[in-house]
Amino acid sequence: MESLLDGAVKFMEEDFLEHKELFESLGKKQIPHTLFVGCIDSRVVPNLITNTMPGDLVVVRNIANIIPPYRTSQEYLATTSAIEYALQTLNVENVIICGHSNCGGCAALYLDESKFKNTPNVKRWLNLLDPIKKRVEGFLPDPKDIARREWLTERLNVINSYENLLTYPDVKAKFRDGSLKIYVWHYIIETGEIYNYNVVSKSFKLLGVDR
Ligand SMILES: [Zn+2]
Repeated sequence: MESLLDGAVKFMEEDFLEHKELFESLGKKQIPHTLFVGCIDSRVVPNLITNTMPGDLVVVRNIANIIPPYRTSQEYLATTSAIEYALQTLNVENVIICGHSNCGGCAALYLDESKFKNTPNVKRWLNLLDPIKKRVEGFLPDPKDIARREWLTERLNVINSYENLLTYPDVKAKFRDGSLKIYVWHYIIETGEIYNYNVVSKSFKLLGVDR
């Protein structure tokens, strides 16, 4: 695909040179301040929506931005090990858990079993959200209420990931003493709006409206 190769050449010849000093300083070490946990969705671009540069964010992405509860395992835990590393070794000061609108992973909870014929691992991964699916079906029992179900699922999902983040070693203590800040977001792709969840008032509020 020629355009990707052209893009790489453009990066080397233009974008890299524009930020040459930054890249040279990053060549030896990284001191990222924030762990960004997001969905694999191509429309979610962490550096773009946080106005950050290379070296600022450690990014962990998976289907539907799920943080599973902390545990140690003989399995190969990509998400859990990456979060563990960011918190314990890189000592990030902030965590952003970023859900988004029109999330295919959240919508997939309500699909028929047959849709997962060729994606058994996706189906298994989304089992982590079964309790959320049950809650949403309780609030919104009509299966035709698709848009509202998806919206609510996306929001309950990031809150669930936040609660699971608190099960990681030292997170609760660091959060309480202020050395770790946790942001829980719902990013709306088509409007560019980012809603931030207030863990005290338990409500989402559009960022920037108080400015
Ligand atoms: Zn998604």
